[in-house]
Amino acid sequence: MNHDLDSTIQRQLAAAQNIVIVGHIRPDGDVIGSMLGLAHALRTDNRRVTCVLQDGMPEKYVFLPGASEVLTSVPPNYDYLIVVDSSDIQRTGQVLEGLPPANLVIDHHRTHDDFGLIEYVLPEVEATALILTRSIPSWGLTITKEAATCLLTGILSDTIGFRTGSTRPAALRAAADLMEHGADFHDVYQRTLSDKTIAEARYWGQGLTKIQQSDAILWSTLSLHDRILSRYQGNDDADLINLLSAIKGSLVTVLFVEQEDGIVKVSWRSVEGVDVSALARDFGGGGHMAAAGAEINGSLQDIQERVIHKTKRYLEALRLSGLKENLDD
Ligand code: 5GP
Ligand code: MN
Repeated sequence: MNHDLDSTIQRQLAAAQNIVIVGHIRPDGDVIGSMLGLAHALRTDNRRVTCVLQDGMPEKYVFLPGASEVLTSVPPNYDYLIVVDSSDIQRTGQVLEGLPPANLVIDHHRTHDDFGLIEYVLPEVEATALILTRSIPSWGLTITKEAATCLLTGILSDTIGFRTGSTRPAALRAAADLMEHGADFHDVYQRTLSDKTIAEARYWGQGLTKIQQSDAILWSTLSLHDRILSRYQGNDDADLINLLSAIKGSLVTVLFVEQEDGIVKVSWRSVEGVDVSALARDFGGGGHMAAAGAEINGSLQDIQERVIHKTKRYLEALRLSGLKENLDD
């Protein structure tokens, strides 16, 4: 922790009266838990805090305290702007267009591009919610029971219940602390990682029938038609990527999710030693070593061919450098 930076942030937060916290599009548990958790910690001092997600609150996370107050655009007359869990400004959608730079950006992505006045970026930390679990007390704020519930959601979401290769002991200790602050571990775990709706199960079914595997890559697609057939209301993959990446025998897993605006959302997952964040960045996206994504313009078929081709070439280059033999052992 950088004490000078922490005391600057503490001073700025103490002086702010009307704070806006913005997260990224296609929001996941980490961005939602971070945004709401920080909002709860800041609200204890009678500040006005507004949370903004361009895509609104996904049904899955409406159980979180404060979820019903999330807006889809930035209100006027705020005096302090915070962006959480977003590797670049495009990730927030259009909600920040025409506004002055954010006062504080808190993130944990390897591919982070600076866009705020203060950049609080720790790429080695497993979740933005974990950064906040440590920082909130060092900024003179209190982790309430509501904040603890939200922050635990973020940590469990980005570590997929402590099973990613990035998970270190401090993440488990932080989760234990959050339980002691009043978070219901079982309930949060269940809702964040286990519970599925029948529509999600049908949507998964569509994706599972289209699995392909070749050259150490496993992939599948979810089309707009699949969404309609399964009556799935979201615009994401309903976490199907986590199921696909659990299938043994591949180094990289890729999922293509067709979007309404002629865009395809691509998700990559990889085994330890294979960095997919660089691949995602080549397609205009970003992320972490083992989990990355991008939004690419084009048809599902076209993007699929381009991405699989490039992913194959990338693995080929790794094989040539001798890494894949080690990975195959
Ligand atoms: P997912 O594939 O689950 O959407 O995301 C995996 C990781 O990649 C997350 O850390 C997420 O923030 C990042 N990511 C996903 N999509 C994009 C994107 O379009 N742009 C950037 N910069 N990062 C993304
Ligand atoms: Mn995150």
